[in-house]
Amino acid sequence: MIETTRILVLGAGPTGLGAAWRLQALHQRDWLLLEADGTAGGLAGSVVDEHGFTWDFGGHVQFSHYGYFDRLMDDLLGPEGWHFHDRESWVWVRNRFVPYPFQLNLHRLPADEARASIDGLARAARDAGVARPANFGEWIDATFGEGIARTFMRPYNHKVWARPPERLAWHWIGDRVAVGDVARVEENLRLHRDDVSWGPNNQFRFPVRGGTGAIWRTLASRLQAAAPGRLHFGQRAVSIDTHAHEVQLASGERIRYEHLISTMPLDVCVRMSDLAPQLGAHLADLEFSSTHVIGVGLHGQPPPALATKCWMYFPESNCPFYRVTHFSHYAPANVPDPSRYWSLMAEVSESAFRPLASPDVDGDTVRGMLATGLVRDAAQVHHTWHRRLERGYPIPSLHRDRALGVLLPALASRGVWSRGRFGAWKYEVSNQDHSFAQGVEVVDHLLTDALEETLHLPERVNARRPSQPAPNGGRG
Ligand SMILES: Cc1cc2nc3c(=O)[nH]c(=O)nc-3n(C[C@H](O)[C@H](O)[C@H](O)COP(=O)(O)OP(=O)(O)OC[C@H]3O[C@@H](n4cnc5c(N)ncnc54)[C@H](O)[C@@H]3O)c2cc1C
Repeated sequence: MIETTRILVLGAGPTGLGAAWRLQALHQRDWLLLEADGTAGGLAGSVVDEHGFTWDFGGHVQFSHYGYFDRLMDDLLGPEGWHFHDRESWVWVRNRFVPYPFQLNLHRLPADEARASIDGLARAARDAGVARPANFGEWIDATFGEGIARTFMRPYNHKVWARPPERLAWHWIGDRVAVGDVARVEENLRLHRDDVSWGPNNQFRFPVRGGTGAIWRTLASRLQAAAPGRLHFGQRAVSIDTHAHEVQLASGERIRYEHLISTMPLDVCVRMSDLAPQLGAHLADLEFSSTHVIGVGLHGQPPPALATKCWMYFPESNCPFYRVTHFSHYAPANVPDPSRYWSLMAEVSESAFRPLASPDVDGDTVRGMLATGLVRDAAQVHHTWHRRLERGYPIPSLHRDRALGVLLPALASRGVWSRGRFGAWKYEVSNQDHSFAQGVEVVDHLLTDALEETLHLPERVNARRPSQPAPNGGRG
């Protein structure tokens, strides 16, 4: 038997749930959502390991560009459901912590390196706009100058993206990244003054219980209560016949749709469809990196130097990870007993350009934490937890937009709307708020022909609430 629905949504991550939330809010009755996993959240999900420690799939920070997203967050978990934190982030370099933004705090570097970095920054500011960078590597040099590029920006970005920055485009960052204010940096150096990005206007929230995934599990439960029978878990799509407008599930069941909102990775969606022969060649332009998330459960209490730090960047080669989150600081309930334990969560990237140094990612991570002073003594380690995400970062590669310009319209012409972090493959609009908005906006587009602002005008959306971008050009 073939079931028929007007709008079929694949995936219960933030994008799919955004679409479902909007369909429900608009009193639509003819839709279904299918999710392959047993639970909601996708990459923004969370798990509790066998020792009772909660982990996200990489440190997830809520930073929203949408009023309705904020209001939904308030409503979903309620006033008692959130912890609020200053976004305190740091860079570990030359055996010391430098507050982020790095370029404003060069006074923390050894004197000769600080001087060379400021001179490079001054040269970059003077030459701004003279030559148009051809790639992200050249953009880094032109924006920050040689010193900062060498000490932090280049090695950090190589680590995060798991490839040389020359393989990335830069136009997706937009024009709004503040080029270092040289006078301000000089002043900070003279006064030996920290110039930090945290404070009352730069806070983030985190669920009191259940990790980031609690948000999406709560939303899915709400939708299940409001729209019984429309959300189905454990249902994996295996093929799409775009001609017949039919999806086949692993169970053998087939579902006919008018519109398909797919939040699966775009390359997976194309390969699973009858458009693969025609579109397959464009998939080579879609690059991604894999991400290993390593949770380290620790005995005791965090040292005072780490107590209020949220996340830390690690550009150097003395550790495999590019970022570590102080995860028990986000929510004490992320550990089973906060009077006895604390936790750190590391992210390690992998690709063909940057394979793992060894298969022992957990061991290398603990050794890296000892080498960088995050953990003083191996005996502090209670246990490790490890999850490899095959697709972690959608790479803004040099020819990404060339591929997207062909793939997304070709699918749309057959009623397939591929949206979300890997569905639309646009890193600059791939955080939770953006992904949720992509789901909302594609529904509005289908029902009222509204413009999908997040997908088509990322710069406009991101300019709404300027934040200090992360050193990889993204927002977190
Ligand atoms: C390391 C890391 C750090 C991050 N940090 C942050 C952060 O600090 N702040 C932030 O806001 N965001 C962060 N993100 C991004 C956040 O995880 C994404 O914005 C969000 O998960 C994207 O939602 P999505 O629905 O588009 O995709 P996903 O979350 O990938 O959801 C897609 C869903 O589709 C399902 N699916 C796939 N194939 C099928 C199939 N064949 N049939 C049915 N269902 C299928 C999957 O199981 C999944 O549930 C981070 C991501 C990573 C990887």
